[in-house]
Amino acid sequence: MPDPAGVTAALVPAFSAQLVRWQKSHGRHSLPWQNTRDPYRVWLSEIMLQQTQVATVLDYYTRFLQRFPTVVDLALAKPDEVLGLWSGLGYYSRARNLHRCAQDVVRLHGGQFPQTAERLQTLSGIGPSTAAAIASFCFSERVAILDGNVKRVLTRLTAFSGDLASNAQERTLLGMATELLPRRNLREDMPRYTQGIMDLGATICTSRQPSCLLCPVQTLCLGLASGAPERFPIKTRKLKRSALSLSLLWAERSDGAVWLERRPVTGIWGGLYCFPVFAGEDELLAALPASLQDRLQAVPPFVHVLTHKDLRLSPMRLVLSARPARALQLPEDGAWFGRDDWIVLGLPAPIRKLLGG
Ligand code: SF4
Repeated sequence: MPDPAGVTAALVPAFSAQLVRWQKSHGRHSLPWQNTRDPYRVWLSEIMLQQTQVATVLDYYTRFLQRFPTVVDLALAKPDEVLGLWSGLGYYSRARNLHRCAQDVVRLHGGQFPQTAERLQTLSGIGPSTAAAIASFCFSERVAILDGNVKRVLTRLTAFSGDLASNAQERTLLGMATELLPRRNLREDMPRYTQGIMDLGATICTSRQPSCLLCPVQTLCLGLASGAPERFPIKTRKLKRSALSLSLLWAERSDGAVWLERRPVTGIWGGLYCFPVFAGEDELLAALPASLQDRLQAVPPFVHVLTHKDLRLSPMRLVLSARPARALQLPEDGAWFGRDDWIVLGLPAPIRKLLGG
C-alpha cells in the first residue's frame, strides 16, 4: 500500500480546491435540504438518507417538515405519529432515535443543536459521519464525513489498498480524509466541499462504472492511474444474506377494520403495527379456533427484500363479522383499526401495500 501520508500530502491542496470549484458549477444545488444552515433540516435529511435513495427521501422529507416544522414540534409529537410518517422508509430504529434526539435537543440544549461534531455525537442516532455532515454544513467545522460514497471516492483517489473491514484501516482513511479538507475560507468552502464529495460519489464516482472522463479530479486520481479504479474500496468481510418465511394473519371485519398488533421494539419491523406474525402456517392455524380455520383464504405469497434478508411472506385472510371478538382469540396487545386510523400508523411497507394504503 502506498504511504498514506505521502499520498495525502501530494493531493493537498489541489483536491479540495478542484472539488469546491466543481461543486459550484456542476454539483447538486436544488435538493430541498440544500441551501440552508438550519441544523434541524440538515439533520433530518442526513438521517433519512442513511440507507435510502434521494428519490425516495424527497416526499418523506417534505411531509415531515410540513407536519413538524421545528425540532420542538417533533419533540412534542406522539411516537406513533412519527412512526406513521416514517412508514415505508424502513430501518425504523432511525425514526425512534430521531424522536428521542429531538426530545434531547429540547430538554438538554434548549431547542438548539450543539455546534460541533463531537457534541452532536452525544445525541441519539447521530454517528460520526452524520455529526460531521451537520457540523460542516451548518457551522463550517473542518471535519470529515466518511459515509459509503465518500469512502469509495477517497479509496479510489488514493488507491487505498487497506481492507476497510479492519477498524485500523478505516481510521487511517479517516485521517487521510481529514488531511484533504480545505484549510482556508472555511465558512464557504467547508459546506461546499462536503456537498462536493457527496455529489461526486453519488453522480460520477459511482460504484460499478465511475465516469472518470467527467471527473473533476481525474488528473489526481491514483485509482484511475492504476487502470482499475473499480477495485477500490477493498472490504473483505461481506454480510451474508439470509431468508425468513413468515405467515401473516390478515383478519378483517366486514366493516373494513383490520386487526393490528404492535411488534416488539427489537427485531423485524420493531415498534410498528402489523398483522399477527407466525413462524409458519401450522402456527397460524393453531392460533385459530377450528370453526374459523376453514374460512381462511390464502393470499399469493410474495418476497419482501430487506437489506440483508429476504422475507417470504404468506398472508392468510380471514373476513369476519363486525363483532368477532368472541370467536377469535386475538393477542391482547392488538386492536381493530378502521382505515382512517391505520393509515396514520407506522406500518411495515408490505402490510401497507396489502391494505392498499
Ligand atoms: Fe472516481 Fe474516476 Fe474520479 Fe477517480 S477519476 S475519483 S475513480 S470518478
